[in-house]
Amino acid sequence: MIVAKFGGSSLADASCFDLVRNIFESDYDRHYLVVSAPGKRAPGDVKITDLLLDCHHKAQMNQPFDAEFGVLMQRYQEIAHNLSLDGVLDQELIAVKEAMMQGATRDFIVSRGEYLCAKLISFWLEIPFIDAKDVVRFDHSGKLELHKTLTLLRQEMLKYNKAVIPGFYGADESGAIHTFTRGGSDVSGALAAAAVDADLYENWTDVTGFRSADPRIVPDASFISSLTYRELRELSYMGASVMHEEAVFPVRMAGIPTSIRNTKNPQHPGTLILPSPRQIGKIPTVTGIAGKRGFSTIILEKTQMNDEVGFGRKVLSVLERHHINFEHLPTGIDALCVMVNSQALEKCKQQILDEIEAAVHPDTITVQENIALVACVGIGLFKMHGTIARLFTAVAEQGIMVKTMFQAPSELSIIIGVSENDLEAAIKAIYDAFIRE
Ligand code: ASP
Repeated sequence: MIVAKFGGSSLADASCFDLVRNIFESDYDRHYLVVSAPGKRAPGDVKITDLLLDCHHKAQMNQPFDAEFGVLMQRYQEIAHNLSLDGVLDQELIAVKEAMMQGATRDFIVSRGEYLCAKLISFWLEIPFIDAKDVVRFDHSGKLELHKTLTLLRQEMLKYNKAVIPGFYGADESGAIHTFTRGGSDVSGALAAAAVDADLYENWTDVTGFRSADPRIVPDASFISSLTYRELRELSYMGASVMHEEAVFPVRMAGIPTSIRNTKNPQHPGTLILPSPRQIGKIPTVTGIAGKRGFSTIILEKTQMNDEVGFGRKVLSVLERHHINFEHLPTGIDALCVMVNSQALEKCKQQILDEIEAAVHPDTITVQENIALVACVGIGLFKMHGTIARLFTAVAEQGIMVKTMFQAPSELSIIIGVSENDLEAAIKAIYDAFIRE
């Protein structure tokens, strides 16, 4: 059984709805749809969710919002008209406008984008509509209640062979609507897939899967055909603009694969995210490369540091007091390096250095700034001899200095630190050495 989630760009206009229908009906295993609100039709266009936010904001300020609401209404009516469903949403649209005028909450208003879209899909495909307010449960503070949600979803979904559910929102026990953070329909889709123990969670979007490097740096970067959830986490942490691994936690926990597919290119197999490396056929040495600027390293040296119990704790306590978390912690016998986010450090750099000085009396304390990290991610990295030698040779041949290097204990990634100016050249060099055919 497949649960398919369609993002806003896949529902932007009536021609997109046609594509969704073709995809939904082309595989009988696709039983449930989870939908976002219509997104941008072209660059410069406004997403329905943003229009709703705008209307809500104006309503709160007691300003007229007829113009914004008019655009929103026209978008839905145009889609309905082109699907020969004229008028089906008119009552609902009037009710949304009235709710706005009566001061409905931000979450209620903003959730209407998904609600109306799912209603339209329900008319269009003639399948039941399951309101997320009855099946996605939040507590009063707006925190998701996972187990209740999975139970409610399962009970309701299994009543129907096919159904559509709006993404992005749910409700607390009193019926008050709460939303996830922006882009949260991904979470709704993953919850629905986990609830019915689907064989596959499909996430239909406007990209043809994940690329093995940022195409702004490597324009012809290949598509990753499959990777594990853990590799996805490493890549997204390092700034790869792939789907956030947190968004798919319900399916990851349930051991369900996620498939990223392009609605406008449904023949392309996209990228499959798998719970276990055993499910991946041929494992490449490097699955993907990602890089991030904006790191600084605080370097502490002290003779006999290694024998000083509590040295690391005292240094990290200083950072903790300033609410700065460390990103990496490479150490030597008598040296400790703490890598932190440069922006966070900048706010209180001198104070932190003074406090570290007072806490551990190092022989020297220096700060290295403008560091970029490049992560080479892959479960295949440590299955081959000489991987690190190849990596260092590749960057050295481009005249790039490696300032630091560490290997994650998970054996999933090797990370090198280079000057921010060398970030792009380092990614290109590593791509050429490991991924380019
Ligand atoms: N429509 C919401 C947004 O634009 C949620 C989503 O699309 O997932 O953020």
